[in-house]
Amino acid sequence: MRLQQVVKEERRPRDFDPRAYISTWTEKDLLHGKVVDAWVIIFRTRGCYWARASGCSMCGYVNDVAQEVAPSDLLHQLDTVLARHESQPMVKVYTSGNFFDDHEVVPEVRNRILSELGDRCDKVIVETLSHLLRRNHLEQALEHVDELEIALGLESTDERVLRYAVNKVWGLKEHAQAAGLAREAGATVKTYLLLKPPFLTERESIEDAIRSSHDADPHSDTISINPVNVQSRTIVDRLFRRGEYRPPWLWSVVEVLERTRDLRAHVKSHPTAAGMARGAHNCGKCDRRIANAIEEFSLGLRRDFDDLSCDCKGVWRAYVAAQEFMLSPADPFATLET
Ligand code: SF4
Ligand SMILES: [Zn+2]
Repeated sequence: MRLQQVVKEERRPRDFDPRAYISTWTEKDLLHGKVVDAWVIIFRTRGCYWARASGCSMCGYVNDVAQEVAPSDLLHQLDTVLARHESQPMVKVYTSGNFFDDHEVVPEVRNRILSELGDRCDKVIVETLSHLLRRNHLEQALEHVDELEIALGLESTDERVLRYAVNKVWGLKEHAQAAGLAREAGATVKTYLLLKPPFLTERESIEDAIRSSHDADPHSDTISINPVNVQSRTIVDRLFRRGEYRPPWLWSVVEVLERTRDLRAHVKSHPTAAGMARGAHNCGKCDRRIANAIEEFSLGLRRDFDDLSCDCKGVWRAYVAAQEFMLSPADPFATLET
């Protein structure tokens, strides 16, 4: 069965209130070299068109979307969430899809979101698939927002990884085009790359993330390394339950960050569910310490990881070697235990 079909079949549509946004919270981020509060808003839309057609192998966002969301529903979500603004100078807007897809967020609603957020925050970050971005989107957005950042999910620059592991058909070419448009218009670019999509060994995924970071560097102001976490109803979830997938080690995140320090772009990582079985994790004893160090590094508060150690670093090396010996991306521990 083809990967595109399998990814789609894992999904189960659920009913959600189209007038309720998905989530909002505040986290730390860097703005003009300073650590500030960043406001995150996740609007509920009809979701990513690619997820509806097939979707990326690790993406469970589609499980949070509503079947249809009218423009008036989205405006209601906006009005509700605006009341939650405190004084955060930066806002990150996600839709579990693509902000610049006219079918997902109609232009009138998009302009209203940008104008309300542009009035309240110095910097606005919005996410979209690269091939959906147009010059007029950027020009209109910059009428409302002083500082605009376009976040693009590139995931990898290896065509084979994109096609056979991520199930995505757009790559560096589309990314470079979108980044060029964004920069010409006066916006900055954040590039998301994956660490450990399914079917790659730990070592292959580390090397893929490092190579992809170097390829994406000329087209990025920030590169965010996203260690895959196991989201429900995905191919990754199916493999995880069978012992054939383990999220990346935090030591692998550290190696990627250390080996991309030569880049011009700011490289960072905020692992989701760090230290949990379904997120990037180590042995359990050192997870909090290593995750904190990754966060500090990402906020420019530390330069290296030389002071960090744990007995599990040797286990991580053995794990990487065992996968190479087994010629399999399966989890060697799970294979031995079951
Ligand atoms: S990862 Fe992004 S592009 Fe891929 S299916 Fe999910 S929302 Fe769509
Ligand atoms: Zn440890």
